[in-house]
Amino acid sequence: MSTGLPESLDPWRAARSGLLLTGEVALSAFARLSDVIVSSAACARVVQYQLQFARDSQGRFLLTGRIQTQLPLQCQRCFGVVDVAIDVPVQLALVKTEAAAEALPTALEPLLVNDDVVEPLLVIEDELLLALPIVARHQDGDCQPPIAAAIHHSPLAEKIPEPAQLAPNPFAILRTLKSKPTPDDTE
Ligand SMILES: [Zn+2]
Repeated sequence: MSTGLPESLDPWRAARSGLLLTGEVALSAFARLSDVIVSSAACARVVQYQLQFARDSQGRFLLTGRIQTQLPLQCQRCFGVVDVAIDVPVQLALVKTEAAAEALPTALEPLLVNDDVVEPLLVIEDELLLALPIVARHQDGDCQPPIAAAIHHSPLAEKIPEPAQLAPNPFAILRTLKSKPTPDDTE
């Protein structure tokens, strides 16, 4: 069942009425996330969300639920695509001020609400960005051979001189490979 995802809503009213949002949204809908995932592998992916607006017994306004997806990330070892399962609980308290945020119990993360508006898509994206692994890697033995991984990602594959270069940032490597292939005396 999908209720669709409103672009924005009044979270206070949503909490009073106990609004529940469930459904799927395309992974490609998340602009900031597209900078960190392998976009070419993301086209058919979706993010499943369940977001419940509610008030608790102490009158706090809460947004709880769950977000699940499979993110295609770049393996830091072979630079191939590695699917990382994300399944994060949402435990947010809606607050209007930093002071209110600091007064929350530790089990609740603050969601600062400006102008009485919450954009669910941005909330989901924030949760996904926070859930990203620090280093994405295949399981031992699952890495693609370096050459195959490089061919998969670069149109200049034939000119790649060193298959085993390691760098902290895989995107930097790709940029190097694409813009200025390392001089190769065999041409
Ligand atoms: Zn790998």
